[in-house]
Amino acid sequence: MSAAGPPQGARPPSGGAAQSDAGGNHTSAAGPPQGANSTSRGAAQRPNRQMPPQASVAHTSEVGRVTLAGIVKRHGTFTALHGIDLEIAPGEFFVLLGPSGSGKTTTLRILAGLEPHEAGRVLQDGVDVTERAPGERDVAMVFQSYALYPHMTVHQNIAFPLRMVGTAAAEIENAVRDAAAKVHIEHLLDRRPGQLSGGQQQRCALARAIVRKPRLFLLDEPLSNLDAKLRVETRVELRKLQRALNVTTVYVTHDQEEAMTLADRIAVFMEGRIAQIGRPADIYSQPASTIVAGFIGSPPMNLLPAEVRGGALLVGGVTVPLERDPGPAGPVTLGLRPGAIRIADSGIPARIYLVEDLGDATILDLHVGDKLIKMRSGQRPDVNEGDEIKLAFAAEAVHLFDPDTGLRRVF
Ligand code: ATP
Repeated sequence: MSAAGPPQGARPPSGGAAQSDAGGNHTSAAGPPQGANSTSRGAAQRPNRQMPPQASVAHTSEVGRVTLAGIVKRHGTFTALHGIDLEIAPGEFFVLLGPSGSGKTTTLRILAGLEPHEAGRVLQDGVDVTERAPGERDVAMVFQSYALYPHMTVHQNIAFPLRMVGTAAAEIENAVRDAAAKVHIEHLLDRRPGQLSGGQQQRCALARAIVRKPRLFLLDEPLSNLDAKLRVETRVELRKLQRALNVTTVYVTHDQEEAMTLADRIAVFMEGRIAQIGRPADIYSQPASTIVAGFIGSPPMNLLPAEVRGGALLVGGVTVPLERDPGPAGPVTLGLRPGAIRIADSGIPARIYLVEDLGDATILDLHVGDKLIKMRSGQRPDVNEGDEIKLAFAAEAVHLFDPDTGLRRVF
């Protein structure tokens, strides 16, 4: 270790990328790691127990189960988490998805041991680790603020978790080059973080996390600083890498496309609660509520007031026959994906508000009554803004929700 004490503000800094690597040795930097957000939410108030460096465990397929049971987190009178229950299987790529402020990062920090909470337990492989410090949990973290050690080169930053556990020099060299190559920064190994772009720093933090095999990866928006192309490329690499390493991964994002492409399963967070847990395809095809439906998909599902009457659906003054019995008569919320709607000779009257040409597709923003909905078409329809058109959709594309509770109606 080259310097005394943890990085400034450490315990570990909020968002500290590698701070809990190798057994929570918050060592070696003289100043705050690059990008560390030392002002944000306090770290867990437990004493910073000095733990011996923790070597990576020899993993079996059953290592890496994570359980959250009844987690409650309050900030004064505000409740950030209202009793979160989660069971994450060994090797699973599990995504916490939700809008800003829904409680994703708080959940991840509680998993890491960085955030005190009012109620609930955290278990790793069935063992209660609620009282354990971050360094005792064998997790590798990459947070949005990537918290690199500014006085170290990229090579030294990546090597750090291995040096902490006394790995042999030759082995470190191989591991560093391998990890750097996986995130395409092998040409930057001699630079310091201050000489890197934001995206390069983020990849350096990723390399530092993957250089060893922890029990659990915790990733909080780790690709947020990459440009769109690199983001998609790195996403693919990350998924392949995670599969190869078979390390349980909990990944926070507010980007539903990222969640859909990366996750084995997704937990959709809304206002400190889990609105739905499921495989991406299931969440997309069977959203549990209007809240989830309105968040998943690009653009998300349209929601329109409608009525079930005589086994059919009344919407926009038009009766649409359904293939299956839609259930009890009365008001419902109709959910339609933008791609499920088409322009037809007869159907629901709509007026074109805006034509958005995406190149490979066209989005039409349409007024149906006083509601604005979106239709997605693979081809550019021959229409103009202000045109009055008629809309149709296939019966099997219909989703119905309770207008009061917002919950999905199974029919
Ligand atoms: P984002 O995507 O914007 O990071 P998030 O889903 O990760 O959001 P959290 O960071 O977990 O959300 O925050 C959950 C809620 O807790 C938010 O409403 C946030 O404002 C609140 N919160 C977090 N830290 C504090 C704090 N120290 N004091 C008061 N409220 C806080």
